[in-house]
Amino acid sequence: MFANVVVPHEFSALSVITLAPDAFCANRLASSLHGMGVTALENFDSLSAVTARLGEAHVDVIVCEIRAECGDGLMLPSLLKSLHEAGTLSRFPRVFWTGETTLDPAPVLIDGTASRPHHSVCAKHWIKRMGGVPISSLESHARLARAAGIVVEILREGGAMDLCDALRALVDGQSKKKEQADTATFDALAEDDVISALTTGKGLRFVYQPQHDLLTRRVVGAEAFVRWHHPKHGDVPPSVLIPLVHRLGLDLLLFSLVEAWTIKVLLALKKAHIEIPIAVNASAQTICTPNFAERLAARMREAGLPAKLMKIELTEDVPAADELHLSASLTAIRSKGFLVSMDDFGTGSATLKLLTNLSFDEMKIDGSFVREIQQAPSSRKVIAGIVSWARLLNLNLVAEGIEDEQTIALLYRLGCRVGQGYALARPMEMDDFFDFLVREDNVEPNADVKGTA
Ligand code: C2E
Ligand code: MG
Ligand code: MG
Repeated sequence: MFANVVVPHEFSALSVITLAPDAFCANRLASSLHGMGVTALENFDSLSAVTARLGEAHVDVIVCEIRAECGDGLMLPSLLKSLHEAGTLSRFPRVFWTGETTLDPAPVLIDGTASRPHHSVCAKHWIKRMGGVPISSLESHARLARAAGIVVEILREGGAMDLCDALRALVDGQSKKKEQADTATFDALAEDDVISALTTGKGLRFVYQPQHDLLTRRVVGAEAFVRWHHPKHGDVPPSVLIPLVHRLGLDLLLFSLVEAWTIKVLLALKKAHIEIPIAVNASAQTICTPNFAERLAARMREAGLPAKLMKIELTEDVPAADELHLSASLTAIRSKGFLVSMDDFGTGSATLKLLTNLSFDEMKIDGSFVREIQQAPSSRKVIAGIVSWARLLNLNLVAEGIEDEQTIALLYRLGCRVGQGYALARPMEMDDFFDFLVREDNVEPNADVKGTA
């Protein structure tokens, strides 16, 4: 299955291990990886041997053969998670699942009982398997692993080119990450720097990403994101800044900054006769601050703006114990006329249970589903399901993380009417955002500020 593909030196800095159930398979993987220029390569035949090796030094990639009769490959993500929790593993290696792929007729359901069709020609559906395991099951498992922070990739065609492309994507990603500086560097940021940035506003700014009607392509809303330029470390991404802000208990301070900037933008848009809602991200902790809704309503009133122009996106995992408090706060916000959105639906604790227990106007489909929509049929099904739930619960729906034209068309076909993503527009500086809306006349003339489901 693996032919040698010669790509000298490109992968020589990578530390790779293989987890293969037998010597034949181990040799095949080894010859393929050596052929690609991987030099630091070791094979292991069991999870316990992999555990011992991971305790010694960092591994970049684990290439793992999937076989239905041997569960090691499927167990690997849970092993990595427990090693991480135990402090043995500081960074996760990337996991590549490979194996022989087959296309089998799907079992036919007769009176609710699964049975094999008598002749394969009778089968209307086919199941693609890797090492005997349905790829759809592998996809679900990989998605769970990704939610736990472990990147698992399924090398669907099981070929050398697939493996080579996956390694190249990893190497490219690593160099990009270097540009952004990695989390370890940011861990060293003095908490004082964050406090000083938030109290003085120095180095902080906000960018705005439009949300579009996927049919007309005109703008029906926007979302504000914080950006922080550190004097020494350069641009610090929100994935680093926001956890620091949480840790320091400064969520409300950050919120009041984004609120003030967003009110400025809304006022400028009002002068240009543009009325679209702008979403601001807020943690559960911020939303549960005493008198949050009253304070926000007072700010909007003072500015002469209707509450419906500010949308609050609940961003964060909500511990179940706080649900009652959060429910009261969300209801208070909505009763003042603000719109409330659940961010990142489908990940973490942004679940259907939370959605049905709490009071929202809108749900946002997490970008991880949207980005997989072309490759993973299961993501399409999940999105179709979310569209149905949104309709049932009478909620507006926004898809985020749309990166290409085909995805726009596919989302629209699945019933999703509003979206945001690089394919439509990137987050923009305030002036550019203003120009984008005003000069280019991009706004839906009768933009319903509640959006559409
Ligand atoms: P989020 O609210 O779910 O925002 C979506 C993220 O996806 C943003 O990243 C946005 O820049 C990025 N994005 C937009 N379109 C695309 C696309 O097509 N492809 C990809 N790959 N990404 C896209 P960003 O700005 O880095 O923010 C990350 C998260 O940090 C946000 O996730 C939000 O939870 C949090 N955050 C950002 N700004 C703020 C803020 O002012 N306050 C709070 N509390 N949280 C914020
Ligand atoms: Mg958001
Ligand atoms: Mg989101």
